[in-house]
Amino acid sequence: MKRICITLVAVLQFVVSYGQSRIPPQRPKLVVGIVVDQMRIDYLYRYWDKFEDKGFKKLVNEGSFFKNTNLNYQFTQTACGHASIYTGAVPSVHGIVSNYWYTRMKKQKVYCVADPKCNPVGTESPNNNMSPVNLLCNTIGDELRIATQMKGKVVSISLKDRAAILPAGHTANAAYWYDKGTGKFITSSHYMQALPQWVNDFNGKKLPDIYLDRLWTPLYPIETYTESYPDSLKYEYGYGATQTVFPYDLAFLSKKDKINRDYEMLLDVPFGNTLLNDFAIATIMGEELGRDNEPDILAVSYSSTDYMGHRFNPYSPEMEDAYLRIDKEIALLIEFIEKEIGKENVVIFLTSDHGSSQHADYMKSLKAQGGKFNPAYAMTLLRSYLNAVYGQGDWVMEYMSGQIYLNQTLIEDSKLSLRDVQEKTAAFMIQFNGVANAMSAYSMVNTPFTDGIFKMMQNSFSQERSGDVFINLRPGWVEESSIYGVDHNTPYTYDTHVPLIWYGWKIPRKTIYEKAFITDIAPTLSFILNISFPNGSSGNVLTQIFN
Ligand code: ZN
Ligand code: ZN
Repeated sequence: MKRICITLVAVLQFVVSYGQSRIPPQRPKLVVGIVVDQMRIDYLYRYWDKFEDKGFKKLVNEGSFFKNTNLNYQFTQTACGHASIYTGAVPSVHGIVSNYWYTRMKKQKVYCVADPKCNPVGTESPNNNMSPVNLLCNTIGDELRIATQMKGKVVSISLKDRAAILPAGHTANAAYWYDKGTGKFITSSHYMQALPQWVNDFNGKKLPDIYLDRLWTPLYPIETYTESYPDSLKYEYGYGATQTVFPYDLAFLSKKDKINRDYEMLLDVPFGNTLLNDFAIATIMGEELGRDNEPDILAVSYSSTDYMGHRFNPYSPEMEDAYLRIDKEIALLIEFIEKEIGKENVVIFLTSDHGSSQHADYMKSLKAQGGKFNPAYAMTLLRSYLNAVYGQGDWVMEYMSGQIYLNQTLIEDSKLSLRDVQEKTAAFMIQFNGVANAMSAYSMVNTPFTDGIFKMMQNSFSQERSGDVFINLRPGWVEESSIYGVDHNTPYTYDTHVPLIWYGWKIPRKTIYEKAFITDIAPTLSFILNISFPNGSSGNVLTQIFN
């Protein structure tokens, strides 16, 4: 009898261990999409020797690393990047042409995820009425929800509202973002009427207060940050343009007044990413992601790297420290996922929504190309020019991040040709120092560009939402209005070349040198999950990860 029992135990142990075997299932139980906001590809190479073994290095060494992944449109902003990654469509199709655009009808600026019909859930702070209503097609998450009769869960989290809502899509279970007013994670009435208990519990821990009481000092001795310029160099905006050197006393810097704390400060320091990492782990537990046979999707977007990239710059020791720290956060997240769900059951991909320019003044100091374009000055001269050509009138309605919106009603009432006014405006704009290209909406609609910068401009163009003339600055140039001197909104490689790494499940270990685009990610996920392509997608399947 004793012998039978021992045999039974052995069989049971075998069954249990077989059940937990490392054989990947037909399709993964969980997809985790990681976006590191404003991650230039060169950060991977530059800090490689200082990264720990279980973060970025583990993904690259044990996964499929696409070394030449790019954005394929002109306006390389956060909203466009997140929408393109998760829809597989370009901005001209998904409609998120910019973080903000202008509506001629209402004569106002529109924020990409603003929706006055929705209420924030979990806060009373203003400016949190958000939803995906402006996203004009489905995300991969929407396709998963539809394909699984809404059983596969889709949850998206970020510090930024747009970086949480756009990846989630329309039918997601939830998109949670950080409320700058209260330091809590909140959502929209588009998804639910009250926060789940686990989110309330997380908010109840008041972690932002703990993180904002810290002194931010470099992780390692500052003299070892040899991949960056000396901390004493002044090509940085820092905090309030006053402090640009370590150490940063966050308790002092986040003081709003005698009693209140400025929770927005957490966005601008590495511990914003720490908070999001804590919340990612709480989300996997709270939503029980990856537990059943219906695949789930978790989208995680780390925003603090972007805020810091603008305030400091790609060669500052602060950025080096930010990446050494996020490497450790990502290592922690991977370790947690592998322990809880198993590497064989999960596909992780890591990418970015855009890169960034260098600091224009720093580049000048090195005698490299770069400069600053002043849109306000250019618009004043353009208005005078159009008055001289067409008579006195309010011909220019708005300038917004490279787009000029003309007064189409006035042009029509004046019986002028819209094409003629657009072309004259473009020809005038090209004369400014720093402007490389100026293209009319007429050309966007009527010219079948196939490649190059003009095609990228066309991919950013929406007949409904875009301006009448697009301008594109020369390489290295940024707009003067970007107070930081570091920006991203161009079709050049420093803004478009981002990492893409696939890891886990059946993903092979390899490096791929062929060109790929961020719009290839969602169609590739369709092949992994055996579901339809997102309905606006135009990307290709990255077949290299299937063999
Ligand atoms: Zn961004
Ligand atoms: Zn940015």
